[in-house]
Amino acid sequence: MSPETLALLLERFASIDRGTRALSERHAMACPPGCGACCHSAEVETSEAELAPLVARLLARGESADLRAALAQREAAGDRRCALFVPEPNSSTGGRCSAYEDRPSICRLFAFAARRDADGRPELVTCRTLRAADPLAVARAERDVAAGGPAVFYSDYGLADAASGSAGELQPINLALERALARAELALHYGRLEAAEDAPQLALVAPAPTGADPTQPPPRDAPRPAA
Ligand code: SF4
Ligand code: SF4
Repeated sequence: MSPETLALLLERFASIDRGTRALSERHAMACPPGCGACCHSAEVETSEAELAPLVARLLARGESADLRAALAQREAAGDRRCALFVPEPNSSTGGRCSAYEDRPSICRLFAFAARRDADGRPELVTCRTLRAADPLAVARAERDVAAGGPAVFYSDYGLADAASGSAGELQPINLALERALARAELALHYGRLEAAEDAPQLALVAPAPTGADPTQPPPRDAPRPAA
């Protein structure tokens, strides 16, 4: 994947974050602290292409072995949850994303984006946990979106990306992680300069946040950072 394509993907992520953050702030609608219920799902799907920024960052930092180990652990345990998810022990809802800054579009959109119903009317698609935690905030957001208020739409962000060929196909996230990692490592192994240049380019485009407590990575529901 070229630096230009990676930059486009990062802009897609930033665009989603701007939209979901705006909705969250306008209606004071936020995930409960520590919630990671959506990441406990075994059904999360994304594409290899969406994971390219994450893989590039891991390779740049020399941390790809950690991801391989996490994938192998999940597979050995028959656990289909995302290998990037760190579940809270003894909890079926808690946990955090270990790759929050590089998570794919579906994870950025989930519960804070809209779709159009059969009649073309916009409707917010949120999650049960959020609705139960703050029904008033969710009701405000639903009314606003239904009235045509600003929102990001799942359909605006082609989750399966035809332009990326097989790398753009939706698949279970752990399979997509494995394949994205293998593809990037192969490209590096055979000395494809554009691949080798991806990682430092990415680091320049999206520097890792500083100042965070390294022992406390952001939870799945980390507040969307200010623009
Ligand atoms: S979207 Fe937020 S509230 Fe809903 S399950 Fe995920 S972390 Fe919890
Ligand atoms: S990438 Fe992060 S947010 Fe998405 S399913 Fe995995 S752990 Fe959850």
